Amino acid sequence: MFDEIHEECGVFGAYHIQNAAAITYYGLHTLQHRGQEASGIAVGEGAKIQVRKGKGLTIDVFTREKLEQMPGKVAVGHVRYSTAGGQENANIQPIVARGRVHDVAIVHNGQIVNEKELRIELEEAGCIFQGTSDSEIVLHMIQKEQGTMRERVMKTARKLVGAFSILVLCEDAIYAIRDQKGLRPLSYAKMQDGYVIGSETCAFEVLGLYTHTDVKPGELVEFKDGIVRRFDYEPAGETHLCAMEYIYFARPDSVIENLNVHRFRKETGRLLALRDDVEADIVIGVPDSSLSAAIGYAEASGIPFETGLVKNRFVGRTFIQPTQALRDRGVRMKLSAIGPIVAGKSVVMIDDSIVRGTTSRRIVRLLKDAGAREVHVRIASPVITSPCFYGVDTSTKEELIGARMDEAAICEAIEADSLRFMSIDDLKAAAGGVGLCTACFDGSYCTDLYSYGEKL
Ligand code: SF4
Repeated sequence: MFDEIHEECGVFGAYHIQNAAAITYYGLHTLQHRGQEASGIAVGEGAKIQVRKGKGLTIDVFTREKLEQMPGKVAVGHVRYSTAGGQENANIQPIVARGRVHDVAIVHNGQIVNEKELRIELEEAGCIFQGTSDSEIVLHMIQKEQGTMRERVMKTARKLVGAFSILVLCEDAIYAIRDQKGLRPLSYAKMQDGYVIGSETCAFEVLGLYTHTDVKPGELVEFKDGIVRRFDYEPAGETHLCAMEYIYFARPDSVIENLNVHRFRKETGRLLALRDDVEADIVIGVPDSSLSAAIGYAEASGIPFETGLVKNRFVGRTFIQPTQALRDRGVRMKLSAIGPIVAGKSVVMIDDSIVRGTTSRRIVRLLKDAGAREVHVRIASPVITSPCFYGVDTSTKEELIGARMDEAAICEAIEADSLRFMSIDDLKAAAGGVGLCTACFDGSYCTDLYSYGEKL
C-alpha cells in the first residue's frame, strides 16, 4: 500500500555544531522517507537566518557548493509531503519571519486541527499570510506573543491543538516542542559539543550517535548557551503516539518511545501467526515496511519466509506512471513478483495495511499472474475505518474500503483466497506499554477536531 498513504513531514536540527547545514543535510537525507516533495534548510548566524529550499529530494535541492555557502553552527531543516497546506512554494519549509531585532525560522511535522480558528484570529489582528500551511500560523503566533523567545514558544504551544513536532530557530538557539499527546515522534542526541534533534533516531545513527532522549509530550526543550534545558509547557498526559509510525512510516532502524520499529513489526507478525490456522508453503512480505512483520509471522508459524516480491527503489513520486494501456499490457514499475519462488505455491502475503484496496488487489493479481496457487493476505494492522486529521493522508472516509465493506467483502474485492486483519488489542499489545493513537481504526480521536470534525 506504499502508494496509498503518506506521512507529511520530517524535521531535523543541528545545534552548536560546525557545518550545521551539512549535518542537517545528512539528517534530512535519512528522513527522506517521511516526505519527498520538498526540502529546505535554514542556518542561523546571530540574529540573521539564511534559508534555502525547493521542490524535490534533499539531494536535488542542495549541492556541496550551496551547503558551503551556508556557514553557521545552528540549523533546522525539513522534508515535506504536502496535503493539507497544498503544494505551493510558499508552504515549503523552513518558513522564516524577518524581524527588526532578529529572524525566526520554523519547521513542523504534524497538523494543527484548530488552524482555521487560529488563522481567523490572526487575520482579524492584521496578520498577512504568504501561504496556506498551518506552520505559518504557528510562526505568526510566536511573533505576536510577549516575553523571551522561550516564553513565546511555550505560550504558543499551549494554544495549539493537534499533532506537532516543531523546531524553532532564533538567535543561535533552537526550541523543540512536541504536542501534548505525543502524536508525532521527536528526539535529540548529543553530538560533539552540541546536539542534533530529529523526527526519527535513524537520522542520528548515520552520524554515529546511538543514544538519544525523546522530547516528552507537552515538553519544550531549549538548546541555548551551549546547554539543554527542559520545560513542561503543559503537564504530560497519556501518550497517543500515531500507531502508523510503528506500522508503516518510520524506518525499521528507528527507536520511538524506547521501542525499536523492526521489533514492533516482528511482534505484529508473530501475533498474526498465533491467531492463524492457514496452511501455506511460504510467507512473503510486501517490501519494505511489511518485511519485518513477515519475518515475525514466519518464525511463529514455522512456514518458511521467502522473498516473493521485489520493489524498484528508483520509482519516485515524480516518476511518469505507465498509461492504463501500458499497465494492461503488464507494465508494472513499482513491484515485481519472483515467478520461480511463488509459482505453484500457496502464499501468505503480509502487508502493513489496506487503505483503498486497489494496491492490495494489484499485488494479489501480480502474484497470481506469476503462478501463485493461492494468496492468503494477512494485514499487520486493524481495518482502517476513519480518516486521519493529524498530518497523515489517509483519504476521506468514502475512499476507505474498510469504512464501506466487511472483511469478507474486502477479501473478495482484492481477489485474495483469504484475508485477516490484526485486532486493535493485538496492535496495542505489540506496542508494549507505549500509548497509541488508533483513531483511524476505531474513530476515537484523542483531541477535539474543531472544523476538521465536519469532514467525518
Ligand atoms: S488517526 Fe491513524 S494515522 Fe492519524 S495519527 Fe492516529 S493512528 Fe496515526
